[in-house]
Amino acid sequence: MAASGGYNYRYGSQRGALRVDRPLSVNSNPKSSVKSKSLPASGPRRNSTGSTGGGGATGAAASKNDNTGVLGRVRVALRLRPRNAEEMVADADFADCVELQPELKRLKLRKNNWDTDTYEFDEVLTEFASQKRVYEVVAKPVLESVLEGYNGTVMAYGQTGTGKTYTLGQLGEEDTAARGIMVRAMEDILADVSLESDSLSVSYLQLYMETIQDLLDPANDNISIVEDPKTGDVSVPGASLVEIRDQQSFVELLRLGEAHRFATNTKLNTESSRSHAILMVNVKKSVKGKDSALSSQNGNNSHMVKSLKAPVVRKSKLVVVDLAGSERIDKSGSEGHTLEEAKSINLSLSALGKCINALAENSSHVPVRDSKLTRLLRDSFGGTARTSLVVTIGPSPRHRGETASTIMFGQRAMKVENMLKLKEEFDYKSLARRLDIQLDKIIAEHERQQKVFEDEMERISIEAQNRISEVERNYTDVLEKERLKYQKDYMESIKKLEEQLVMTQRKHGSEKITNGHEDDGFNVASSKESCRLHVEEIDDLTKLLQKETMLRKAVEEEVHNLKSQLTQWKRSEAAGKSEILKLRKMLEDEEHQKEKLEGEIARLHSQLLQRSFEADETSQQLDRSGAEKIGALESLMTQVRKPQLKDSGNEEKASIAKLFEQVGLQKILSLLEAEDNDVRIHAVKVVANLAAEEANQEKIVEAGGLTSLLMLLKNSEDETIHRVAAGAIANLAMNEINQELIMTQGGISLLSMTAANGEDPQTLRMVAGAIANLCGNDKLQNKIRGGGGIKALLGMVRCGHPDVLAQVARGIANFAKCESRASTQGTKTGKSHLIEDGALAWIVQNANNEAAPIKRHIELALCHLAQHEVNAKDMITSGALWELVRISRDCSREDIRTLAYRTLTLSPTFQAELRLKNHHIMETNRQNARINPKMQQQQA
Ligand code: ADP
Ligand code: MG
Repeated sequence: MAASGGYNYRYGSQRGALRVDRPLSVNSNPKSSVKSKSLPASGPRRNSTGSTGGGGATGAAASKNDNTGVLGRVRVALRLRPRNAEEMVADADFADCVELQPELKRLKLRKNNWDTDTYEFDEVLTEFASQKRVYEVVAKPVLESVLEGYNGTVMAYGQTGTGKTYTLGQLGEEDTAARGIMVRAMEDILADVSLESDSLSVSYLQLYMETIQDLLDPANDNISIVEDPKTGDVSVPGASLVEIRDQQSFVELLRLGEAHRFATNTKLNTESSRSHAILMVNVKKSVKGKDSALSSQNGNNSHMVKSLKAPVVRKSKLVVVDLAGSERIDKSGSEGHTLEEAKSINLSLSALGKCINALAENSSHVPVRDSKLTRLLRDSFGGTARTSLVVTIGPSPRHRGETASTIMFGQRAMKVENMLKLKEEFDYKSLARRLDIQLDKIIAEHERQQKVFEDEMERISIEAQNRISEVERNYTDVLEKERLKYQKDYMESIKKLEEQLVMTQRKHGSEKITNGHEDDGFNVASSKESCRLHVEEIDDLTKLLQKETMLRKAVEEEVHNLKSQLTQWKRSEAAGKSEILKLRKMLEDEEHQKEKLEGEIARLHSQLLQRSFEADETSQQLDRSGAEKIGALESLMTQVRKPQLKDSGNEEKASIAKLFEQVGLQKILSLLEAEDNDVRIHAVKVVANLAAEEANQEKIVEAGGLTSLLMLLKNSEDETIHRVAAGAIANLAMNEINQELIMTQGGISLLSMTAANGEDPQTLRMVAGAIANLCGNDKLQNKIRGGGGIKALLGMVRCGHPDVLAQVARGIANFAKCESRASTQGTKTGKSHLIEDGALAWIVQNANNEAAPIKRHIELALCHLAQHEVNAKDMITSGALWELVRISRDCSREDIRTLAYRTLTLSPTFQAELRLKNHHIMETNRQNARINPKMQQQQA
């Protein structure tokens, strides 16, 4: 139930003024009289004023496109219980106190033997109505709404014993057909939700003597109500909340609740008829893609934005209330209760009645805070929920008084209007979670890659080092070996030679001694012998030398080999080094990439924060003015859609200005170039809305908004974008400086192009309006014509829509006026561009258009054209002259009439033509002497 001053209530009551009135006073008509002229019985799904959402659409469908809410009246059904065994006997001789006419949805309440009162309800359910049918007419529409994301309430009101609990709470385990609304509702909910992605939980409470007890946990017997100051949502956080996975567990829960109710009531020395039982079913459904109102307004396609898109969840609540018996408890109290207790027992119920009375009478004060029940149900009456009430009555004439009061309660409840609101929001938390996970994955992957690179580099470097040292070692070994071998060989050779020398010397010495003592014959022989020895020795030495030489060569070759091997190793080492360099470069690149990614992630994070912040701000702001929590752009959109709200005061204006500041013009303008079309559409709508305020225009132009808007005309193919952008341009084109800017940026060609391609009359109206504004600038005449402006205007008349024609006519009139001025000042010579561009035929054709604005503009245009002799010939041949004559006589505006007349009389060409047709004119003038005596004078 909305607070007395609350936005929803105020809104509802404004609408309420349009409702068909339901007289409540007792009618003195002795015959049956219909007390209620009910609205068409389409129930809460009906859109009673058609002012929100699409007319005739179901509430939910309408609200998908418009999150501001749908009007829904509280739907009231009346149910009659069959006579019970006792009544069969006791009332056997009496007629029932009521007579039902279900086909007329009426009920007649017997006043006495000769008089009845007739009442009309949304539904009248006879004693034969099946539980299934009752469920379908009372609860099903509410349930469907709940599954679509609206809050819903089903409530039973009536005297004890009339079937409230039977209607709502019957478990129907012995007889399936007897199942009540709670059980059937849960079946439908379970069939609709997906247990993987959605969640379903239940609380079950009892309210007795202003104390709330948990029927699922009886120890919990003093639960308090908490209201969210921001949203006004009411919750009972102290109550147990049980997740429901299947029907069986739900039925168990209901049975448990029933048992606890019985136990509690026994302990408190009361009966269930004095307490209210409240079942709350919380449904949280995730909405896929296009289904969501939020995402269809914010829909994006590009990959980057997609990962930024928060999932949408709908959190709705079904409340089923089995109210305490409505019979008045005797003031002295009953069954041991004191008077205070007795008052307290019924406090909630009487507070409910008072609230409903206040709401039904559009009273300015609704005493919601007076009781726990009304606080708990603040959303159900005059709030945002879809509410169905079933009032139960018994047939017995003995309870006629109670029955009458129940009927009256139902009648008043039928006057209560609720404003249904979609309970949909972005799940920013899960978006943040998703982004965090993504970020962590990227970080981990990067770390892994870095490690692999480092390892690989180290391995290559070690390998190269090893190879180099191995080659070096081999080389030194071989060199050392060779050196040692040479040294040894050399030493040996020296030693041998020395020995030989010693031997030779010794031989020579002994020869000399012998030479002194022996004969010459012997000496010759021995010297021959020694010569031979010498030769042999030399031979040996030569051989030895050859061998040594060969050996040396072999060693030299070996050294050469080793050297070439070494260079090869060096080369491969260099290659290894360059490989390392390459890997190092790759690693650097990778690091760079990582930095970029981290930057991107940080940017996304801050965007996310900003979005959350904006969403919060907006929601706070809108909460303050009572509106729905929607995004900043959305709220501006609301202003665009609902101009009547915009006019409703400075508050809204201030909120635009604030949003403007918060979101930042630059940011909004940058969204005009967004990749995603929906984003562009939203952005352009916001800019158009801002451009409608003169105060913003300069800022928009300064920030390059005009250029962006013109670019949209050029680059976008979306009709909506064209329409809104042209509208914004038309607004900006009201200012002379902007008009020149538009022209220098080629605006007229772009507008002409849009005019040629547009089909939607609203687009054409905006384009024509923009061109018409430009046409009013004296300095731009030639440029407008050069850019095809006149032809574009004329081209748009093809659509035939009166609004478009009016703008075209205005443009032509503006153009003709400026041209006329230029001609008078001598800056323009020659025929009018309008005539040259072929406008005359259309002008003549529409000079007498039945739409006043079109007619008026064209009349002015004709007067301007006629002021210059150069145009006169064409005006005569096209028949414009006769229109001018007509204007000079018939025009309802005196100034135009006089202007036309003066123009006609001042033009020699017209005068000549008129003289030619003198006879005819005179004839007409005579018939119409009243109109223009001056003219007759002239012609005479
Ligand atoms: P309340 O909750 O309003 O005090 P109950 O639901 O307990 O009333 O109904 C009183 C008795 O009437 C119960 O025995 C119930 O089974 C019976 N009853 C109520 N409505 C019907 C009905 N439409 N058809 C058959 N029996 C009914
Ligand atoms: Mg009951």
